Amino acid sequence: MNHMDTDSHTKTLYREMGISREVYEYGEAVIRRLQERFEQIDRTTEYNQLKVLRAMQKNQVSEACLLGTTGYGYNDLGRDTLESVYADVFHTEDALVRPQITCGTHALALALMSNLRPGDELLSPVGKPYDTLEEVIGIRPSKGSLAEYGVTYRQVDLLEDGSFDYEGIRRNINERTRLVTIQRSKGYQTRPTLSVERIGELIDFVKKRKPDVICMVDNCYGEFVEEREPGDVGADMVVGSLIKNPGGGLAPIGGYIAGKRECVENAAFRLTSPGLGKEVGASLGILKDFYQGLFLAPSVTAGALKGAVFAANVYEGLGFPVVPDGSESRHDIIQAVTFGQPEGVIAFCRGIQSAAPVDSHVTPEPWDMPGYDAKVIMAAGAFVSGSSIELSADGPIKPPYAVYFQGGLTWHHAKFGILKSLQSLMDAGLVERGALL
Ligand SMILES: *Cc1c(COP(=O)(O)O)cnc(C)c1O
Repeated sequence: MNHMDTDSHTKTLYREMGISREVYEYGEAVIRRLQERFEQIDRTTEYNQLKVLRAMQKNQVSEACLLGTTGYGYNDLGRDTLESVYADVFHTEDALVRPQITCGTHALALALMSNLRPGDELLSPVGKPYDTLEEVIGIRPSKGSLAEYGVTYRQVDLLEDGSFDYEGIRRNINERTRLVTIQRSKGYQTRPTLSVERIGELIDFVKKRKPDVICMVDNCYGEFVEEREPGDVGADMVVGSLIKNPGGGLAPIGGYIAGKRECVENAAFRLTSPGLGKEVGASLGILKDFYQGLFLAPSVTAGALKGAVFAANVYEGLGFPVVPDGSESRHDIIQAVTFGQPEGVIAFCRGIQSAAPVDSHVTPEPWDMPGYDAKVIMAAGAFVSGSSIELSADGPIKPPYAVYFQGGLTWHHAKFGILKSLQSLMDAGLVERGALL
């Protein structure tokens, strides 16, 4: 078979899998314009692949590291070595990487609760944090929140143009300010994601005002998108979820906190128990997936990133507001598309669901998800339940009716998902055929 045959067979399969000729051709035209962007992504991936490999070699990851412990998990070589590998990848002194950290919110809550004491104040200089953190902090009253333990909170919003409100930040740092939380990704908002460079500028500013303040970065969705990570620009703690980028799609659970030795130690004492810290916590049989997932993570992240760039260009071309826009530089794998009406969010998510390898026959519906203040619709047909490094989309059913798309373990799957979403919008009458020409 020559490549012409393969192309025509591929087209036939797209058709048989529900993609109309117009949608397919529209997608191909978009991709032709993206070659340079994709090459740039590949260059970053190459760097990050080497970075991860070098960390594994340096720490002498061995076959024995892939096995697990049970019970208390004393002297778990694989777990301890993995934590050193993470510390090297993120250029931090130490790291806590555990299956006992149940999700990203848990990792962030752990980092906060273990490093703050009653009477301390927490500051977010980048606006409202991720929805689930509202209850951790106590912005929305909640049992066990930081507020219940006497930790107060201040927030300084970004300025209209997305820049830091340095004057406001200066005013809101006081003698009680102990920890500054900086969310890299936009989360469920339409503000720009912060580049590692901008995070570094903010940390510099904060540390000049108050050198002993702990700067924590919520790194969810940002890992391996750039060459540098927040630890390279002065962050004291870098926190994320293993069912996002760094788990490479293979980690079935888990979170990480990489950072200063003392911060990581505090987190370990809180996760397990004072006195025990990092010494306990059996890894069970999970380490091989943690290692292999981290090894694949740069390349999996690249596939997701290409999908996000493709989605931006597909929907921007049809006149929908997209954040980031089709040409701007990327600092996370999330793509927001604003539809302005609930039907658009729902049709998009149903299209993504129908592209999944698992549960493609299921129709997602908006529901009251714990931790969120509006109904949310989620599309995910994933090998790991709820994994958002796999092809997924979610949108709160509230204005501006934006959908947040992310993931795809491979670029070609991400591409298929976006084509399916567009097909779903067309089938629902929300995009005119003429718009694709
Ligand atoms: C996903 C995410 C979280 C929370 O992670 P979960 O694993 O869903 O609990 C926190 N912050 C940001 C920016 C995220 O994207």
